[in-house]
Amino acid sequence: MKCYDVIVVGGGPVGLWAACESKLAGLDVAVLERRRQRVEQSRALTIHGRTIELFAMRGIDDRFLAEGKPIPTGHYAGLETRLDFSCFDTRFPFTLYLPQSRTEELIEDHARDLRVEILRGHRVNDLSGNAEAGYELTAEHEQGASTFSARAVIGADARRSIVRQKAGILFEGHDATLSIMMGDVRIKGLEGPPLLMVTNERGGVTIAPVSADGTVRVIVIDPERKHVPVDEPLSLEELAAAARRILGQELQLSEPSWLTRFGDETRLASHYRHGNLFVAGDAAHLHFPAGGQGMNVGLQDAMNLGWKLASVLKGDAPDVLLDSYETERKPIGAQLARNTQAQGALMTRFDPGHLALRSEMSELLRIPEVNRCLAGVLSGFDLRYPSSDLFGSGDGAGERIPDRSLTLMDGTSTSIHSLLCGGKWLHLSNQSDAPVPLPHWLRSDTVLAGDVKHAENDAENRQVGAMLIRPDGYVARKVMQDSEIRRGQQPLPRNCTGM
Ligand SMILES: Cc1cc2nc3c(=O)[nH]c(=O)nc-3n(C[C@H](O)[C@H](O)[C@H](O)COP(=O)(O)OP(=O)(O)OC[C@H]3O[C@@H](n4cnc5c(N)ncnc54)[C@H](O)[C@@H]3O)c2cc1C
Repeated sequence: MKCYDVIVVGGGPVGLWAACESKLAGLDVAVLERRRQRVEQSRALTIHGRTIELFAMRGIDDRFLAEGKPIPTGHYAGLETRLDFSCFDTRFPFTLYLPQSRTEELIEDHARDLRVEILRGHRVNDLSGNAEAGYELTAEHEQGASTFSARAVIGADARRSIVRQKAGILFEGHDATLSIMMGDVRIKGLEGPPLLMVTNERGGVTIAPVSADGTVRVIVIDPERKHVPVDEPLSLEELAAAARRILGQELQLSEPSWLTRFGDETRLASHYRHGNLFVAGDAAHLHFPAGGQGMNVGLQDAMNLGWKLASVLKGDAPDVLLDSYETERKPIGAQLARNTQAQGALMTRFDPGHLALRSEMSELLRIPEVNRCLAGVLSGFDLRYPSSDLFGSGDGAGERIPDRSLTLMDGTSTSIHSLLCGGKWLHLSNQSDAPVPLPHWLRSDTVLAGDVKHAENDAENRQVGAMLIRPDGYVARKVMQDSEIRRGQQPLPRNCTGM
């Protein structure tokens, strides 16, 4: 029997990222994935700017930017007024279109660089044990079945998650109430990369670019076909006829690479943790895919969990740190369910009342504060975790840390996000004798410490004496210049890793 610190069940984007993060933090990890081959379907096209920041914090953003197509704005419920990301302090004020199949491949490359063990063709069909004794998993494969053991298990195994079921975690919500047609196809005579969203009294049609070879995604919400079961096969003719009826013009669709229906089933895990069993991604939250969020939120679940799991399993942090995974991430899952239900209501009803509601909402989105509020939720840029005694509450606790170019005292030019690439905590100080107190459980050799001589665009941060940043890019705590803490503070312990 092979023993690991962590077994991740499910090798989709979320499972692979959870494995990367756990491995980077020093755990022995394996991924068990039932499919022999990677999924070829495009599924998630939208990568939000905050997710590109996660990739930047691990030094792999260029791989995604080199292939994806940046779209300067986003959408909420396909409303005419688009979401504007230019108000956020980020290097990536856009969404990036890249098929999920390619995103998964790039994450898998990163996992292989980190030497994560990925076992394809392994379907987990049994799981038992507990946090004290450890867990045992059985997986079926071509040669029969194998047993694995692990101290913790991450269920990134989506809708029917065996990990969630064995943990006794409920998946509360509702079944699909409607179905929507979708095809990755070519459209004859369509020039350039299209992005079209039409909603009228007959229904809704969206066309979005999928890949540079001219493949586009056509999504059709046809009230006359919306009660067809999600699993009923879709033909190119049905998709084309529905699009024609709504648009009032012929779309010459051909070469379908994927035809499917999807629904608005919405569910949220009652807990994200049971013992040392965890759920992340679609195993924790399922929803109507609007605004490009499921994979993005799942990747952020994984980013939140990996370093916490390592800190606890290595015996550094108290077990309660793992409870903060649910405390921080479940409200995000609930928000995801809510906003996609609201978008679903706006996108799938075409009576005069709902069309008027769309117009009103679209007008409201012209108000910069309203636009920012929804853009901040969908992109993740405005996500802020509640402050917690675990990290040290107070100024800035839980805020996302934007990137900054920095010059360190030794003259090195760098940036905050590049300094996070090793997955360590980061302590930055404008003056070496003004440290932030570390949480009592945090081992100082897991903290990278640097004294900043100069930071770009930092009118705001000029008042910050020092800050401690978590491995997932959120502020644990800031100490302001001349604060009482700073005046009474001892220097950082000597064994913090210097830069
Ligand atoms: C049409 C559509 C468009 C979408 N667009 C977007 C978008 O633009 N942006 C966005 O962020 N999200 C989008 N999503 C949602 C996104 O596709 C999902 O949220 C994402 O795939 C979730 O990733 P995951 O790793 O949690 O689950 P999955 O990708 O489903 O991966 C789960 C993996 O677990 C494996 N597995 C399951 N059971 C077992 C088992 N017992 N043993 C071993 N392996 C197992 C499966 O084979 C699978 O590979 C869209 C979804 C749809 C349907």
